[in-house]
Amino acid sequence: MSDLRELYQEVILDHGKRPRNFRALEGADRTAEGYNPLCGDKVRVYAKVAGDVIEDLAFQGAGCAISTASASMMTSALKGKTVAEAERLFGRFHRLITGRASGATGATEARPAAAADDDLGDLVVLAGVREFPMRVKCASLAWHTLRAALHSDGATVSTEE
Ligand code: ZN
Repeated sequence: MSDLRELYQEVILDHGKRPRNFRALEGADRTAEGYNPLCGDKVRVYAKVAGDVIEDLAFQGAGCAISTASASMMTSALKGKTVAEAERLFGRFHRLITGRASGATGATEARPAAAADDDLGDLVVLAGVREFPMRVKCASLAWHTLRAALHSDGATVSTEE
């Protein structure tokens, strides 16, 4: 178990140090800025959407390893997906990091089936943040920001609810 934890830690640190898709995206038609006041994480997400497909995705910003790693993995996971698929994945990811199965509070039901997490890819390594409520905000920042970008241009979102 601790081996797995270390491996997860390594993946997060790797994405945190060398984030993928970390750049301003030329020709982006959707962008939004996100801020997590609890930690100080800032992120700007750029998306290029053609029809219903997220053709390209990138981000810039400054934040902790968790927020950077989450943004890095998110951009990798969602590139080429449709907006609807991105929404579904967001729901799945959110349940993963909060440990909540859509409104259910029973801890025994919180664990999602392994098969359902298949297309989350590396993102499963962030499941550990559910033990740290402050960190959930870090991990979900880029996702909330992407949603804002997809739904309304130029918005600034905050993870403070
Ligand atoms: Zn953070």
